[in-house]
Amino acid sequence: MLPIPIQKTFTYSVTNEEANFLKKGMRVAVSFGKSKIYTGLVFDIHQNAPTLYEAKDIHQILDEKPIVNETQLKHWEWIANYYMCALGDVYRASLPSAFLLESETIVYKNEAFSDEDILEDDEFLIFEALQHQSQLTIHQIVDVLGKKKVMPTVNGLIKKAAIYIREQIYETYKPKLVKYVCLNENYNSDESLNNLLLELARAKKQKDAVLTFFQLASTKKPIKVKDLEAKANVSSSILKSLVDKNIFEFYHIKTDRISFKGDTNALKNLNEFQEKALTEIKETFKQKDVTLLHGITSSGKTEVYTKLIQEVLDAGKQVLFLLPEIALTTQIITRLQFYFGNQISVFHSKYSMNERVEVWNNVLENKSKAQIILGARSSIFLPFSDLGLVVVDEEHETSYKQFEPSPRYNARDAAIVLAKMYQAKILLGSATPSLESYFNAQQNKYGFVELNRRFGNVQLPKIELIDVKEKHRKKEMKGHFSDRMLKLIQEALDVKGQVILFQNRRGYSPIVECKTCGVSPQCPNCDVSLTYHKYKHELRCHYCNYQRAMPNSCSACGSNTLDTKGFGTEQIELELKELFPDFKIGRMDLDTTRGKFGYQKIIGAFEAREIDVLVGTQMLSKGLDFDNVSLVGILNADTMLNFPDFRAHERAYQMMVQVSGRAGRSIKQGNVAIQTYNPYHQILQQVSTTNYKAMYKEQLQERWQYKYPPYYRLIKITLKHRDYNKVESGINWLFKALYNSFGENVLGPTAPAVARIRNQYIKNLVIKIPPKQSLANTKKQVSKIRNTFEAVKDFRPIRFIIDVDAY
Ligand code: ADP
Ligand code: ZN
Ligand code: ZN
Repeated sequence: MLPIPIQKTFTYSVTNEEANFLKKGMRVAVSFGKSKIYTGLVFDIHQNAPTLYEAKDIHQILDEKPIVNETQLKHWEWIANYYMCALGDVYRASLPSAFLLESETIVYKNEAFSDEDILEDDEFLIFEALQHQSQLTIHQIVDVLGKKKVMPTVNGLIKKAAIYIREQIYETYKPKLVKYVCLNENYNSDESLNNLLLELARAKKQKDAVLTFFQLASTKKPIKVKDLEAKANVSSSILKSLVDKNIFEFYHIKTDRISFKGDTNALKNLNEFQEKALTEIKETFKQKDVTLLHGITSSGKTEVYTKLIQEVLDAGKQVLFLLPEIALTTQIITRLQFYFGNQISVFHSKYSMNERVEVWNNVLENKSKAQIILGARSSIFLPFSDLGLVVVDEEHETSYKQFEPSPRYNARDAAIVLAKMYQAKILLGSATPSLESYFNAQQNKYGFVELNRRFGNVQLPKIELIDVKEKHRKKEMKGHFSDRMLKLIQEALDVKGQVILFQNRRGYSPIVECKTCGVSPQCPNCDVSLTYHKYKHELRCHYCNYQRAMPNSCSACGSNTLDTKGFGTEQIELELKELFPDFKIGRMDLDTTRGKFGYQKIIGAFEAREIDVLVGTQMLSKGLDFDNVSLVGILNADTMLNFPDFRAHERAYQMMVQVSGRAGRSIKQGNVAIQTYNPYHQILQQVSTTNYKAMYKEQLQERWQYKYPPYYRLIKITLKHRDYNKVESGINWLFKALYNSFGENVLGPTAPAVARIRNQYIKNLVIKIPPKQSLANTKKQVSKIRNTFEAVKDFRPIRFIIDVDAY
């Protein structure tokens, strides 16, 4: 198997000894094409010489033992088959790139490496060459060593972490500990306080510290040890002695999730509802492989997972815990580490190469530190040996689906197949399940368990809808805020609560328009208007990242009457800063989270209550657990509802219920306010009563009526090319061919909302597959048509993309 986008495997010839040594799943270096060397994977060892070409010899064997097991190979085949992609694409996506050296791969020295003694002679030669030259290709290394067989040496250097290959390096995040101080509860009465001050009369510094503490305490915000030291001008030893005297106490906000130092803690006791859910899950697992846990936000699903995980670990099996996006979920990592400590490994395509190689090897060897794998979608590709349980948290999340590049798989669905291969159980969890999972549960295909109480019996937030059309008419809007929204924000801040405001668009405004001639600046590479970013005073394309300075005058008519239309997170942030000058406003979107630890810094600051109001995009809706949010505001619900997609309403419901779920998670009931032009929209009504079942019923009805999933399946075909006419004639040809096979069930051709991206024109077709039609035969037919298409010389340069279950 070669890591290239070609459907088939290739046969190479080996000697008898090599054949005896080789096993499926070992890597071999082979040449392919004119002079390229690739890392191939042994897929089969057989005696059938190829008929169409002469089998070449392999260059060399790269492994002593298989690094991929047979279940994985079976799983990869399933993915290639089901998602209609090349096996080589799956192979490339599965392995950390360090395992896939090829002649063009570029290697770099790891500046942090200093253990030169442990290097073998050849390894040292390469390492030394990298002192003089910042990078080398594998080709160049062949020259350095004066021999052809260099891969094992390079692999050795990678394993010793002396070099790395071209890639961005992300370090693992270590959350900072913020220490706070409070008064010991002995001093709750005025009398005891007076006594205390008398007691301290002769310890001036200590008395200063206590008095300053009271000054700071009047703001009712938690007091940081650092702030108290600075304000009272005392050293940390003074505060320490006050703690020793039982006058002060130190604490960390949410210590349980940020204090992992290697010790582990007992699991929390479940409340009766959680206990019941756990029992039911185990009951369903007796009959079913897949169970859906529909638990409302903050019902404590994570605590239920931990109990299941513990049982599976006790039985000596491995656990895979899938998360939609690692970057957003440091909270869960720390929470699980709190219980399971060093048994957890985190796997993510954005982690550094060495970390990924290490995790791969640990899983392969079933090491004790790889008993629980916490990871984003690509962790389904790890070499598990004895998987017992898969948890898919927030199973409805779109980020489980890979859209680009191939393989275009859905990790939740692929995980269900994987679990079956290992005879493991799989639990899907969500407060807002995807329609198809809920449908499968209703059809009794999956087990189904509900958890309808928030932990601590806190009520779900009160949700109110604000009619902005009405507010505009009555002139009760200030910028993009209704008077009602402003009042709720003020009330939340008055009681020291925090506020989350959701606006699903970044930048200052999505459209700039000339008031004189109506022209608005467009991206030169894409068919879309440029978004104005005020901080950088730039116009930017959100599809290709093109950027240029904001012009002073209209490029079409020259007047300086440029105006902005619509609003994004930046504009909201700026308005808030004017409206609430005494409070700290933060923003979380792609632009503020780009840097290293970008997300974690903002999330950390919000947890530590350094930010009072956080404005952000849909990143805010993903499983975050803050304990002090009393208001969540959604500034414009309508853009979500008007999105042209058959799942738009389902998604809008999920997004709004999920962000709402960030409110009132600890003690008090929270508030949610949603601004809309359309308060009678059925989805908003369902959101405001958190009525999942009503949403489900209605959407399902529409899916049935308009022939969409879960009843019909969809395969989407996309063509892309720089030449508009080529795409146009290609898609018309394709439509006719598909129509001959599938008739009315072919939709299109259509251009997407943004019909040109990075100078590539885009056209789509969708094939709907009725419930009774064979999926396998349909795919066979589509493949056949694709082959005929690609045989047409004129069409060959067109990019042909197939996306199965394209949603
Ligand atoms: P969900 O994932 O369902 O939204 P979480 O698992 O994040 O909910 O739980 C919400 C909050 O309640 C968390 O801060 C969690 O620590 C707390 N919690 C939930 N169950 C328990 C329990 N049994 N004991 C103590 N705290 C709990
Ligand atoms: Zn103009
Ligand atoms: Zn662009």
